[in-house]
Amino acid sequence: MNFDVIIIGGGPSGSTAAATLSQKGRRAVVLEKERFPRYHIGESLIPFCYFPLERTGVLGRIQASGFPKKYAVQFVSSKGKLSQPFYFTQYRDHPSSQTWQVPRGEFDAILLDNARRLGATVYEETAAGDFIVDDGKVVGVRGTDKSGSPLEFRPR
Ligand SMILES: Cc1cc2nc3c(=O)[nH]c(=O)nc-3n(C[C@H](O)[C@H](O)[C@H](O)COP(=O)(O)OP(=O)(O)OC[C@H]3O[C@@H](n4cnc5c(N)ncnc54)[C@H](O)[C@@H]3O)c2cc1C
Repeated sequence: MNFDVIIIGGGPSGSTAAATLSQKGRRAVVLEKERFPRYHIGESLIPFCYFPLERTGVLGRIQASGFPKKYAVQFVSSKGKLSQPFYFTQYRDHPSSQTWQVPRGEFDAILLDNARRLGATVYEETAAGDFIVDDGKVVGVRGTDKSGSPLEFRPR
């Protein structure tokens, strides 16, 4: 298999890296040990997530997702005292000032699908194991597919 870059893990970092590399004409492969959507507890995004979502062409899918919208944060002290809410629009009047609370299972699956749509090759249920070292340099990754069969990836 002829790839430029191998990415271990199809979480938000891996899928965004794969999407970006694909947009730049690089052949990226993602090894993800789970099958998506897998369970992952929900998390809360921050406004600046808007920009990588926009750059990788997936913003519209997140906007259409129905994920709960988030406009502000509020902090609670160890004694239970509440701060004033901080509304993101106070900092910046821009669409990014509305962000989301995301169920990560669904969110991560959307991002990984988007990497695929842009041309990345994704192997789910494929766990990376150890590195292949040749003459002191890492030249690839060994992995196993879901049946436990060994695989080798040697990206450029
Ligand atoms: C308790 C907690 C609460 C958090 N709350 C928030 C929050 O509210 N908002 C926020 O923005 N961030 C939050 N974070 C941080 C956020 O979870 C991480 O920044 C984010 O998940 C990092 O993304 P990632 O893609 O780097 O890694 P991950 O999301 O961890 O993804 C890694 C992927 O790699 C796969 N993988 C692992 N090992 C292998 C292997 N050997 N081979 C193949 N695949 C493999 C995993 O299955 C997984 O899909 C929280 C973190 C924790 C721990």
